[in-house]
Amino acid sequence: PRESASRSTPAASAGPSTTHVLECRDVWKTFGRRPGTPVLRGIDLDVAEHEVVVLIGASGSGKSTLLRCVNLLEQVSDGTIRLDGEEITDPRADADRHRQRIGLVFQSFNLFPHLSVLDNVTLAPRRVHRRARGEAEQAAMELLTRVGLADKAREYPDRLSGGQQQRAAIVRALINSPRLMLFDEVTSALDPELVGEVLALVGDLKQDGMTMVIATHEMGFARRVADRVCFLDRGVILEQGPPEQVLDDPVEPRTRQFLRRLV
Ligand code: ADP
Ligand code: MG
Repeated sequence: PRESASRSTPAASAGPSTTHVLECRDVWKTFGRRPGTPVLRGIDLDVAEHEVVVLIGASGSGKSTLLRCVNLLEQVSDGTIRLDGEEITDPRADADRHRQRIGLVFQSFNLFPHLSVLDNVTLAPRRVHRRARGEAEQAAMELLTRVGLADKAREYPDRLSGGQQQRAAIVRALINSPRLMLFDEVTSALDPELVGEVLALVGDLKQDGMTMVIATHEMGFARRVADRVCFLDRGVILEQGPPEQVLDDPVEPRTRQFLRRLV
């Protein structure tokens, strides 16, 4: 009988406590039509709810490509990516729906220059989610107030400092209440004195329990914010662990070499 059979199956293995927010399984990425050198070579990465994973590695190691694959801006060549247990790399999946659950912030500020900060932030909820303008603006103002930008809501992006623009870009990614936030070198285009305010905001998100994957060259920040650091080398996660282990006492010679070059 069906009922007793279902009771005896170990369905608990798929229960909520064991489902990761993000699961990358054997993810490969090769660019171009003719098979060249793969940029990602079998990435396995699980991220638990509230976990903060920091990706480090030399320029060209595949950090951005991995984040872009997770956000479905790039199509994986092989392997699967799951969000809350649902396979988003399935060709039949609704990419737009999945992308709305994942916030991505890039290195360069991607605010639309012809829109005010408020219109930038409310564009997605109004167009994609069909939220009423008033409701979207109220949610936006709450978030802008939290990041200290309430007085800039009616300004255009070019009237803001780089750090303010980047904080506005983060608010724009947060407005959809994403399950997962991805940050790709969000401070590398900033003047040094503006880096701190953006990193502080990412630190606040960690306090709020946001699940995040962060690519960064800021090792001090990686140490403070990461639950786990992954060292990418030529498209593989060569080494991973708690920040104090990977950053202070790495096992792999290539990790040591990378960290030595930074100082
Ligand atoms: P990282 O972010 O770690 O610096 P990237 O993911 O940007 O590394 O790049 C990894 C490799 O993939 C690099 O060799 C880069 O040239 C290549 N690459 C990235 N995007 C493309 C693309 N659209 N077409 C072809 N090659 C690409
Ligand atoms: Mg990159």
